[in-house]
Amino acid sequence: VCQGVAGRVSSIPPSVFTEVWAPSLRFGCYPLLGGLNWFAFVRTSESDELAPDPHGFLLERTRDWTAPGHKVIAATPPDAVTCAEVVAREPLERWTDGRVALLGDAAHAMTPFTGQGACQAIEDAVVLAECLRGEPDVPAALRRYEARRLPRAVEIWKRSWAAAASAAKKTRTVDPARRDAFAARFERVVWAQLEQTIVQPF
Ligand SMILES: Cc1cc2nc3c(=O)[nH]c(=O)nc-3n(C[C@H](O)[C@H](O)[C@H](O)COP(=O)(O)OP(=O)(O)OC[C@H]3O[C@@H](n4cnc5c(N)ncnc54)[C@H](O)[C@@H]3O)c2cc1C
Repeated sequence: VCQGVAGRVSSIPPSVFTEVWAPSLRFGCYPLLGGLNWFAFVRTSESDELAPDPHGFLLERTRDWTAPGHKVIAATPPDAVTCAEVVAREPLERWTDGRVALLGDAAHAMTPFTGQGACQAIEDAVVLAECLRGEPDVPAALRRYEARRLPRAVEIWKRSWAAAASAAKKTRTVDPARRDAFAARFERVVWAQLEQTIVQPF
């Protein structure tokens, strides 16, 4: 995954999250601190081609786009583009041992496709603090923390893998009617999942 922060691009509304699924690249951007934070997923098999000049590679991949992407990448200084391989792993079955506890990626590193890794780390921290507050038996508090957090984190980890699997599928060009129907359905599914994640107590 490559990431960058561009200055404002006049053709992109300042409050909209945009995703483009094109055969050449999957791209997304959203406003952040007066600029546009963006990401682009490139297949691992293309990493040799990407490595010498990620900015140039991405500009070339988006050259013919009418959708947002090319302008955003062009508005990013080349040295502000960073790329890293996505690494995720199975969540651990145990997060605590005596007075030691894991949280965040150390316990449940997930794929970035649902934007939940840091959110789950923050939830871990909130619950850990709640469990420790006023509890003199630290190992017991840590076990309670694990019991409260593990099922939810694993559930969200599974969703991140389902999203990664759909992102890994080859994208092809379809007619505008099918594209719009798919985009509307995708938006409904994403909102439903987001709502479910946010409203569930943790
Ligand atoms: C491309 C991408 C996009 C993402 N997008 C989102 C998103 O939109 N929303 C979201 O919620 N999450 C997102 N995430 C996931 C999120 O970044 C991680 O889940 C989150 O950073 C995990 O936080 P953490 O504190 O557990 O671990 P880390 O952020 O990895 O922090 C661990 C820290 O420990 C330090 N460290 C390691 N070893 C030692 C040592 N021996 N001594 C001292 N320090 C050490 C490391 O340097 C690091 O600073 C994304 C991840 C990626 C890769």
